[in-house]
Amino acid sequence: MRLGVKRLPDDGLLEVRDLKKYFPTKRKGVFVRAVDGVSFRLKRGEVLGLVGESGSGKSTTAYTILGVYEPTAGQILFKGQDISTGLARRPLALKKEIQIVFQDPGTSLNPSRTIGQILGVPLAVHRIGTRAERQQRIAELLRLVELPVDFMYKYPRAIGGGERQMVAIARALATNPSLVVLDEPTSALDVSVQAKIINMLMKLQRELHLTYLFISHDLSLMRNVATRVAVMYLGKICEEASTPELFANPLHPYTQMLLSSIPVVSKAEEATKPKRIRSTGEIPSPVDVPPGCGFHPRCPFRTEACSREEPAMREVEEGHFVRCHLLGAGVPGDGQIH
Ligand code: SF4
Repeated sequence: MRLGVKRLPDDGLLEVRDLKKYFPTKRKGVFVRAVDGVSFRLKRGEVLGLVGESGSGKSTTAYTILGVYEPTAGQILFKGQDISTGLARRPLALKKEIQIVFQDPGTSLNPSRTIGQILGVPLAVHRIGTRAERQQRIAELLRLVELPVDFMYKYPRAIGGGERQMVAIARALATNPSLVVLDEPTSALDVSVQAKIINMLMKLQRELHLTYLFISHDLSLMRNVATRVAVMYLGKICEEASTPELFANPLHPYTQMLLSSIPVVSKAEEATKPKRIRSTGEIPSPVDVPPGCGFHPRCPFRTEACSREEPAMREVEEGHFVRCHLLGAGVPGDGQIH
């Protein structure tokens, strides 16, 4: 068990260092490299958007931080404590500090229990309050997400999808966690209720000074919710910056490609949008990661060096990190598009 103590600065909540999560395949010695060297820091009260296509490794990164998966390598520090283990080996007191809101409340809420019983589970597991105090806390949690208190007697099937997700949010907040992982919290919901859920999440974040790790495939959503954005591709972060900086000055070709395909509604947004970047193909399989830069088979700016050498992450401006040979010092190759 690797539970040492290393102090983070006062405002540092989570630090992930060179995190790797590989899954074995049926072929001996061949692994799915779902997360392949991810590093980032999350301060208290921040909302970090972890964005990428399906297969980029963003959800596996989050589930490894949660302890659902044991890391293959790397370190996860939470409040200065090394928590680089699976859930089974984490102290109970630590488990209540990191909670999650799943994508689909239709499957994450037990259909045979009432809403009150569902909200009571984390309180009972973590031995919070007496029976009467737990009832009060359940009512308080329902009020917090603006649901009627008598919902505690209803079953999940008797309420709407948006209301079920509000219950899932209330359940995540039951133990007063320091960090909440939001795993695509609106992608399974009707468009009509998505904005309501996002508004509620952001209101709670402001009022309770919560810290979110917000997983999404939707970069445009991040413009409105995230403090910082990290863009993932093939198990690695390829660009990370504050949200205003990333949208004003996207530097990695993959980020530019994602941003250029976002529909815009105003002339001001159109003016800041990168020119359309044409890339070919789909994200490669994490079983068969291309050599060099993982994006090179799709990148219109690739050079000969891109298929040979893996680019390192560089800080190109304060707080703006990019993983691309074309940026920063020591550009290898001939600089031509092949
Ligand atoms: Fe494109 Fe090369 Fe940069 Fe990768 S390193 S994003 S292939 S230019």
